[in-house]
Order: sequence, then structure tokens, then C-alpha cells
Amino acid sequence: MIIVINGKASDSHVEKVVQRLQKMGHKVNISRGERRIVLGVIGDAKDLSSVPLSAYEGVEEVIQIEKPYKLASKEYKSFTTNIKIKDVVIGGKEVIVIAGPCAVENKKQIFETARQVKSSGAKILRGGAFKPRTSPYSFQGLEEEGLKLLAKAAENTGLLVVTEVMSVNQIELVGQYTDIFQVGARNMQNFVLLKELGKLDKPVLLKRGMAATIEELLLAAEYILSEGNHQVILCERGIRTFENYTRNTLDLSAIPAIKELSHLPIIVDPSHATGRKELVGPMSKAAIAAGADGLIIEVHPKPKESISDGAQTLDFGNFNKLMSEVAQVALAVNRMVNLK
Ligand code: PEP
Ligand code: MN
Repeated sequence: MIIVINGKASDSHVEKVVQRLQKMGHKVNISRGERRIVLGVIGDAKDLSSVPLSAYEGVEEVIQIEKPYKLASKEYKSFTTNIKIKDVVIGGKEVIVIAGPCAVENKKQIFETARQVKSSGAKILRGGAFKPRTSPYSFQGLEEEGLKLLAKAAENTGLLVVTEVMSVNQIELVGQYTDIFQVGARNMQNFVLLKELGKLDKPVLLKRGMAATIEELLLAAEYILSEGNHQVILCERGIRTFENYTRNTLDLSAIPAIKELSHLPIIVDPSHATGRKELVGPMSKAAIAAGADGLIIEVHPKPKESISDGAQTLDFGNFNKLMSEVAQVALAVNRMVNLK
């Protein structure tokens, strides 16, 4: 059960409701937003049906939610959450494309990529400065130097920035340069990191773990939401299956499934999902046709020379082609891509 209290309610009014719930043996999770205070009642709330909770001063709504995730659920909010970052809205009619290299490698690479993806219609620049590499001997990223280059390239071109944060002690530094924190697949269940990001007022792009169910993804999002940060963007990036022709298996059905279960926007990463550049275009179109709110795509001036993930990375020409094809599919499903 979720109890929504007006953000202007006094502490004593909130306390009265909390005490009543605790007296009945319930654990209560309080998340304080600017406009409202949300009490999440953990556990079976059936015995509360006879308690007149909506009569308590300040209580705006009492919502019964059967799902294990509460604030992420469609019952909590029936329409897609719009995440506004400057002039970009994720979760609205416009399909938003994020593009850029796997990792920031040098000034020329990221500046050139920013210019080109912007001119093809991307709205947000991606690029890792802290890279979660499988091998400790692989390139680990340029760290703060990479963040600086990424932010400068984005500023020059009018793009927003998304980049990965891998641990709690990186939050402050990464936060100085990024508009959106990316939580990578390998960290989807790093609950300590999720909770810390939940205390901030900055959007989080949460990627599905490679062996995570849809429910586990939504529960991971719940960790961020329950701390008060309601700006969560989900990302389907493929899951591990027995198929090994592709790097992962893109779970296209997760898109409409998540649209049924949650109000959070969902974007798709066809680059990491397939691991093959030839498949990125077709899967991008399929994702938009299935209802995705956006895409995140790896692009590099010379994919063959990319330090990481070259095989799944598009060059500028192929990215430009993808954008115009995706724009056509978007129109067919009553969405749009703003190519300017
Ligand atoms: C990435 O997007 O840079 C990345 C490492 O992806 P994932 O976490 O989905 O593997
Ligand atoms: Mn990559």
C-alpha cells in the first residue's frame, strides 16, 4: 500500500499516520519529495482496509498495490513519467536518441562524434569515462579527463550528457559533469549505489542486468524511487541466453511488458544487446515499433579503431541512415523523432 501525503503537511501530521501504521505492526518507508511525501507500507496491508487512513490530515491518496514494486508500478501512476532535462523530454511523444562512443578516448574522437551525432538528430551524448570492463587489463577509461572532454563536447554542440557511475565514491565527481547518471548492467543490483542515487535530484538511466528478470529491474528502480528520486529511465540492453551468435539477446517483449507494468520510460540499447553493427539498425526500428521511448547507440569516427566495442559501433554515415529510418518507424506508431 502507498499513502500519498501533501508535501506541505506538517511533521506531526505525517507522524500520526506513521504511528498508526507502526502500531498495527507495519514497517513504513517514508520518501519525501518536494510536492508530496509517500509512505510505502511494507508487507501485507490487508488488515488496513478497515482503517480510515484517507481521513488523516494531509493524506491525499491511499493506493492498494499488490506488486512487490510500488512506486514503479502502473497502479501508482497510470501515465508514462516524463523526464525533463533542459529542453529534452524522455517519455513523451518524441523518441529521444542518445549516441556516442563506448568510451571517451581523446578530444578529437569525442568532439567529432558530438558534432556528427548532433547533426543527425541525437539529443544526448554518451561516452564512458569509468568503464566496467570484464578484464582488469582492458582499458578502464580516462576518468576525470574523460568526463571533462565529454562535458565540453556536449556543451559545444548543445547536447546533454549521460555517463556511467560505477560506485558511490564516484557520484560526486561524475555528477559535476553529467546530466544523467548511467547505472550499467553489472551494477543493476548494486543497492548501495542505487540508494545513494535515489537521494539526488538528477535522472538515472538504469540498465537491465544481463541475468535480471523484468521484476528485478523494476525492483532495482524502486530502490532509487523509494529514496525520493523519481527520475528513472529504464534500459533494455539484452540478456544472456544460450544464443551466442549475438552478444546478448535483445528482449523486445520487455518493452511492451514494462509499459503494462510501469509508468517509467524505457529505452533500448541495440548496440550492447546484439554486439553486431549490422543488427543495430533493424533492432532500433523494432524497438521503436514495440513502443520504446528512446535508443542509446554506440557511434565512433572509426569503429575499427575503437578501443572498446568496435564490432557493435556505427560510423557516422550508418548512424545518420539509422536516424532517418527510425524517424519513419516512429511516425508509423504515432511517435516522432526530431531530426534537427
Ligand atoms: C555501456 O553502455 O557503456 C555499457 C557498459 O553497457 P552495459 O552496462 O549495458 O553492458
Ligand atoms: Mn560499450
